[in-house]
Amino acid sequence: MYPPCVFRPPSVLVMAKHIPQRTCIGCREVEAKRELLRVVRTPEGRVVVDPTGKRAGRGAYLHRERECWETVLNARGRLEHALNLEAPLSTEDRMTLEQVAATFPPRASARAGEVQNAPALK
Ligand SMILES: [Zn+2]
Repeated sequence: MYPPCVFRPPSVLVMAKHIPQRTCIGCREVEAKRELLRVVRTPEGRVVVDPTGKRAGRGAYLHRERECWETVLNARGRLEHALNLEAPLSTEDRMTLEQVAATFPPRASARAGEVQNAPALK
């Protein structure tokens, strides 16, 4: 006879409570997406902060902590690689991002003792 119909629920139902997570491109820690601030490469090739997280374009995520931003802004090519930029970050965009970074507090003292495990740049 025919085998019974086995209904398998689509896996998307299992994922319904999944909390989206992203990696901070500064310290490389995985964090809930809503705890991070998005920067986005616009269709015009500019790099801007995206507080809504909804702008079109390739995005990257960072903690709202000064160290993470300084790491990215000081490491040559880090942001360009994360956003797949064809040209180095423009001076104008860099200055804007540095101004944004200056508004963030330094990393919380409770986490100050962590060893930064930054991979060596080629
Ligand atoms: Zn970070």
